[in-house]
Amino acid sequence: MAVNMITQNKERVKNKSVLLFSGGMDSVIFDKLLKPDVLLYINSGADYERQEKNCLEQLIKNKFIDKKKLIILNNIVNLSQFERDDKIVPNRNAILMMIASLYGEILYLGSVSGDRSFDKDEKFYKLTKKLLDHMWEEQHWTEKREFKILSPYKNTTKTELVKKYLELNNNPEALFISFSCYEPKCITPPILSMWQYFPIIKHIPCGQCKPCFRKWVSLINNDIQIPNDYFYQEPWKSKWLKDVLPLIRLNKWRGKEDKDIWSALEKQRGFNIKKIAETLALDIIKK
Ligand SMILES: [Zn+2]
Repeated sequence: MAVNMITQNKERVKNKSVLLFSGGMDSVIFDKLLKPDVLLYINSGADYERQEKNCLEQLIKNKFIDKKKLIILNNIVNLSQFERDDKIVPNRNAILMMIASLYGEILYLGSVSGDRSFDKDEKFYKLTKKLLDHMWEEQHWTEKREFKILSPYKNTTKTELVKKYLELNNNPEALFISFSCYEPKCITPPILSMWQYFPIIKHIPCGQCKPCFRKWVSLINNDIQIPNDYFYQEPWKSKWLKDVLPLIRLNKWRGKEDKDIWSALEKQRGFNIKKIAETLALDIIKK
């Protein structure tokens, strides 16, 4: 139905809280912790959105999100031509926040400790609130709307976030369905059947991009059993990791999150040593 741009009355306060929902792990957790009225998914033409949409369908099918709360906006913005090689779309969050403001006054754009972009930090939240409050002053076409932009988990690491999620008895399986990978790998059907959530998705997380790595850190630190074929390649073997290891050791890569990364790598090292020991022991027994 076409939207009638000329309204009879003034725009009203919506009294709703809105979470910009990507289908990524953080947004799935924020939904459970913050309980927003609206989950807003805006299709902005990014390369990885096909997988995100499959993930939304799976989350709904498995009842991990409430379909009634979900609003999917297609063909509103297409930012694909601005997507950089590293998948960053400059100003993306600012544009999405402006759209979110049309649905409610309490806006959540989930950010966690370790996020480094300036369009997710506290200053961005404060400036956006100021801008929105100004644009929605009472005037001939609207009553006054006052915004709150909240980011209660900005000092919480992903590992701590997953812990909170599990403490509330939420299902860890939803975290496997959630999708944040920048470079999903297409998998042929015979391998697909090994993993129950991917027959429809047909793409699996690469395991090598930063979002995959950070997700792996938070899962392993919370002792969540990651299926062998969940990541296309093992995140702890990411090629770029050796370049940032010295920074991680000094807590200078992602601040508070560096400790979590270190602990996950130590845990993995422990698994590897145990595995080598077991293989050696088996070899000795066989001899
Ligand atoms: Zn990835």
